[in-house]
Amino acid sequence: MDREDFIATLTGIAPLMRDAVLDAVTRILALAYVYKEFVEGEFRFEDFPDLDERVNAILRGLSDKGAEIARQRVRDALALLDGDYEDYEDIVESVENENEGMLWAFDMHSSNLKKLLEGWLTIAFAKGWSQADALAKIASNLDEPQTSPMWKDAIRAKMIDPNEYRFGRGYQRNIPNAMKVLAVYIITKAFMLSEQRMYANRGAAYYIRRRGSNYDCPECDSLVGYPIPIDEPFAYLHPHCLCYAEYHFPPTE
Ligand SMILES: [Zn+2]
Repeated sequence: MDREDFIATLTGIAPLMRDAVLDAVTRILALAYVYKEFVEGEFRFEDFPDLDERVNAILRGLSDKGAEIARQRVRDALALLDGDYEDYEDIVESVENENEGMLWAFDMHSSNLKKLLEGWLTIAFAKGWSQADALAKIASNLDEPQTSPMWKDAIRAKMIDPNEYRFGRGYQRNIPNAMKVLAVYIITKAFMLSEQRMYANRGAAYYIRRRGSNYDCPECDSLVGYPIPIDEPFAYLHPHCLCYAEYHFPPTE
């Protein structure tokens, strides 16, 4: 197995997530614009229960789609290893159920999207933007939240309700990217642990963690370069970690 083959299973996830998010945004805007005339000042989905319910269904669909993309790529990655997918199913399950679970994590991003759209719709209705205009502006903001010319308008939404809208620092604004990072985390972790099991089954004694990046990684560097017992799970320490394991077998007579 070539490491390049594994890296290939991680490519192209960003545009898939972007399409999924934009599809949800497009459908939500179409529904929300029907209520345009009834909105004064701040827009909140929950003020219109029928709308809220339909929007939540779309957002659940988005979470499911994100999880489906991640699962498909996990299968692609594990297919590179010896053994059936079933051999590794319990590993995949434990990675998916880690902390509050994969679906919960995708739901967090979906609900951040909902808050973000409430902010954008507040601005859009206040300024009388057309639906197409709003979609174009939101799309450009999703791609480049910090550099988008609409950034200032998003900041202005704070003035409409300073308690409700937090577009400032510390808020996850690039939803497609956040979903991609989550998927890559799940795929990489499931793959690394499954690969480790495969080598353990073949009799490997230990592994050496190697840094795949060419820049210093303060979190990983302390673990890199020395033998780690084969039964000690490979630690995926942070998003975008490119570390990999080099497996070693006991010397043969
Ligand atoms: Zn690393």
